[in-house]
Amino acid sequence: MGRLEGKVAVVTGSSMGIGLAIARRFGAEGARLVVNSRDGARAEAAADELRALGCSAVAAAGDVSRPDDARRLAEAALAAHGGLDVWVNNAGINAIGPSLTLDFGAFMRVLEVNLAGAFAGSQAAARVMLEQGRGVILQIGSIFGEVGMPERAAYCSAKHGLVGLTKVLSNEWARRGVRVVCLDPAYIRTNLDVADQSQGGYDDRDVERRTPMGRYGTLEEVAATALFLCSDEAGYITGSHVTVDGGWMAYGGW
Ligand code: NDP
Repeated sequence: MGRLEGKVAVVTGSSMGIGLAIARRFGAEGARLVVNSRDGARAEAAADELRALGCSAVAAAGDVSRPDDARRLAEAALAAHGGLDVWVNNAGINAIGPSLTLDFGAFMRVLEVNLAGAFAGSQAAARVMLEQGRGVILQIGSIFGEVGMPERAAYCSAKHGLVGLTKVLSNEWARRGVRVVCLDPAYIRTNLDVADQSQGGYDDRDVERRTPMGRYGTLEEVAATALFLCSDEAGYITGSHVTVDGGWMAYGGW
């Protein structure tokens, strides 16, 4: 028996990176999946990959910053798999630059996708989950939801916001069977990290030097923690934010 056997999971932004790794792990543990990207072909490619691994998966294109698209993801889960038990708000973007000159539109777009998108996704999921009295919503935050980093005003604001959102939603829904948790990874090698390195003034060596464990985290380590938090084994965890960071947050040295 897989740890998500019989469960239906939506993972936003699962065409690549952390979202795809979570979908792969959830699928391997028996979950039936809805994978998502802004682009229909990329979503289909992810669903194809998961089906080739033996998972049950459908693709749903949509932009998480549009509440109607979030609603359509929930509908896709109900239509394809007849339920909705787990919802992962993973889709995320960054905009790096000095706060004095950071473009206002770029700032707002990061908040729309990373924070308002997670709110819209949580609402869409909760409409189903509260009715059935059961479900888990996982926000993919970041260590930058807990500390600041120069030139990341939008990203840090959105990720700090996710921690607050997690607390409020968990307060409101705890007695109605719905848990809400935030997972905060440190640096993981994905396309986002490649893009950030090109404009963010850091490289692999900086990450390895700054991280007590001396290395990047892996996709599998993030996915394994997501699996635990979304499984019944984490049944008493709600409102928390959990770091997967090789000791980053515990380190205050140079
Ligand atoms: P990637 O850039 O590799 O993947 C991002 C995913 O989000 C893609 O599947 C992309 O799909 C999707 N996406 C982006 N915008 C939207 C949107 N508006 N609607 C729907 N999907 C969207 O990033 P990561 O895997 O690195 O990041 C995933 C999450 O993990 C993010 O929330 C990020 O902040 C967080 N995180 C990442 C860390 C890292 O070091 N990599 C560290 C800490 C947190 P497509 O382009 O196909 O639409």
